[in-house]
Order: sequence, then C-alpha cells, then structure tokens
Amino acid sequence: MKSASKFSRRNFLHYGLAGAGAMALAPTLSALAACSPAPDKKMGIALVGLGGYSNGQLAPALQQTNNCYLAGIVTGTPDKATKWAQQYNIPQKNIYNYQNFDQIVDNKDIDIIYIVLPVALHKEYTIRAAQAGKHVICEKPMALNARDCEDMIAACKKANRMLSIGYRLHFEPHNMEVMRLGQKQVFGKVTQLENANGFVYGGNPNAWRLKKALSGGGALMDMGIYAIQGARYTLGQEPIAVMARQEKTKPDLFKEVDETIYWELEFPGGFKSQGKSSYNNNWSYLKAKTEKGSFELEPAYGYGGIQGKTPNGVMPFPQINQQAAQMDDFARCVLTSKPTRVPGEEGLKDMKVVDAIYRSLVSGKQERIV
Ligand code: NDP
Repeated sequence: MKSASKFSRRNFLHYGLAGAGAMALAPTLSALAACSPAPDKKMGIALVGLGGYSNGQLAPALQQTNNCYLAGIVTGTPDKATKWAQQYNIPQKNIYNYQNFDQIVDNKDIDIIYIVLPVALHKEYTIRAAQAGKHVICEKPMALNARDCEDMIAACKKANRMLSIGYRLHFEPHNMEVMRLGQKQVFGKVTQLENANGFVYGGNPNAWRLKKALSGGGALMDMGIYAIQGARYTLGQEPIAVMARQEKTKPDLFKEVDETIYWELEFPGGFKSQGKSSYNNNWSYLKAKTEKGSFELEPAYGYGGIQGKTPNGVMPFPQINQQAAQMDDFARCVLTSKPTRVPGEEGLKDMKVVDAIYRSLVSGKQERIV
C-alpha cells in the first residue's frame, strides 16, 4: 500500500508527467488494473509441479488474486500433497498425481491448469491439459524447442482452449513503460540496446536445470529468455538473425548446459541489439540509448525491486505482485473470451530465437531466425 500511495501526483510531476504527459501513461495504469474484480465467478487454477516457483511465488500470489484461486494441485510427492491440502485448504478430490492427471477432465472446480514443471515436461502436460478440456498457462521457457511450441499451440487450438505463457514481466509496470517508450519512440528511435539476465548458480549440481534432457539448455533457456523478450518488446519488432558465442568457466558444473552466452540480434532494417545470459554473473538490466537520451531498467527482471530511469527522471511506478497480475489477467481473458497478451505464440517467437542462438554457437556464424 505504501508504494501504491507513492504513485501520486508528486511523482508524476517529478517524472515530468503532469497533465498531457500523465495521460500518456494511461495504458500502463489500465494494465495495472489487471487485478480488478471480474464480473462474477473466480476461475479455479491447478498448479502442476510443486517446486520452488509454485511454492515460493505462485501459491502465495494466488492468495492475492481476484479473478482466480488455487483450486487444485498435481504433484508426484505425496508429502507435498498433504502439506498443501492443509495449508491452502484444497479438497482431496482436487489433488492429482502424474498418473491420474487426465481424470482432471471430470473436475468442474478446475478451469485452468498451470504447468510449473521442468522444461522437458511442458509439452506433454500442456497437451494433456488441453485434451482434458482445460485452459493452460505454461511456464517459461515454453518448451525444449520451437517445434514443440508449435505442437502445443496446435493442440490447444484443436481443443479450443486458451494457452498462455508465464511471462509475468508483461504485467510489470516498469517493463510495460519500456515497451511504451521504445515502441512509441517517445524519445525518438532506439539507437542502441543492450540487456542481460543471469545469476551465479549455487544450487544442486544434480538439479534438472543442469541436465540437458530435462532443461533443454542452461542460462539461455532459463534467464536469457527474458533478455530476448526484453529486446523484442522494447523495439516492438521481431529479430531476423542472430550471432552468438559462449564462455564456460566451470565446465564440470555446466557439463551439459550453457553457462554464459553473448548474442547480437539483427532486426529488419539492420538495427542490432546486444544480449547476454549467465549462470555465472548476477545480471539484470536493460539499457537503451535513443535519439533524445537514454532509458534503462536495473534491476530489470526480478520478482520485485525493479527500477527504471528515463530522461524525465526515475520511473514512479509501484512494485506489484507480478504473478497475481499475470494470473488474474489470464483468468479474466478466459472469463471474457478475450485474447491474452502473452499467448503461446509469444513463447514460440522467443524459442525461435533461442534455437537460432544454439545453431549459431555450433556454426560460428550468424543464423537466420526462422
Ligand atoms: P523446481 O525444481 O523447484 O520444481 C520442479 C517441480 O516439478 C518439482 O518440485 C516436482 O514437483 C516436479 N517434477 C516432476 N517431474 C520432475 C523431474 N523429473 N525432475 C524434477 N522435478 C520434477 O523448479 P522450479 O519451480 O524452479 O521451475 C519449474 C518451472 O517454472 C520451470 O519451467 C522454470 O523455468 C519455471 N520458473 C519460472 C519462473 C518465472 O519467473 N516465471 C521462476 C522460476 C521457475 P512435485 O514434487 O510436486 O511433483
């Protein structure tokens, strides 16, 4: 509440956005209303895979949502089922495992299935969820490769179910402002763009994230996907080619997956942006130069604490619960039969870039994004 109350006239003035300027923020403000109440019913969401993200972010966020609630769970770990049932008051009939998952077709409490599994399982569970008649949110990266993304989109279309990707930053005010500044050329054209996302991996050396068969790749798939998206949504254009190189300082730990990758995206017209991802550097930023000054986000991509600067000053936006806004928006899209701003096609576009980056690492050449 504190930060929301700071989102005031005083801050608009500081940002140079009194009067007409403030009007220009209308899209951002209306998107913040993603958490506003839906007309009648709340959509029931079932989380599939009760790991770090479900436990630490999604389930708590579902305690703050207006248009959806935590109706069910799917887990392979019976102890988690017991604990979650108590903690979140989930009835036994709404608890599934991976074997009886398809029986969810008969469960009227569950409208949306949210896939929060290792990447290699995203395709199978998205398709099974759609075939069970449920709308789907699938976590990022959408799948192991672009072809799998296409299969997932086709399966959801065939089942006439909506598919969304867990792209929380499309609901985050500072990132939304960067979309506006870049796409509407508020300070003129973007003349330089660099962004990066990464952290120093200190986790379990046997975790699925480091096993190629389960993750599809390393920091690029896990963290770099945000930097790829950041470039795409700052410019509002699709890249056509990419050149990439990689660096490995811990080959024993990152035996199967990439550690640090540097890439250059080429956009139509020849503009090039620089990006990087890492499991060995704490990076989270986007820096853009334009014809009339610079804007930036740092940190850019975390769950909170995001900060931005423009030639008009510090961005005055509040920190919000991104996951709650993202899930509420999707629930509202389902309820009102409106398209989601982060459909499967958005995940597919990012995976086409990822596939081309991996091809470029092998070929040593610039690769077309197809
Ligand atoms: P975790 O390893 O913490 O959890 C994954 C869960 O999947 C496990 O706890 C387990 O749950 C289930 N699971 C089923 N089969 C397997 C298997 N073979 N190996 C390992 N786990 C399995 O991962 P995260 O929660 O961090 O990530 C899950 C997904 O969410 C990934 O796609 C990741 O990229 C995404 N993510 C997105 C974030 C975002 O900001 N949007 C942030 C973090 C993750 P159970 O015991 O219940 O069966």
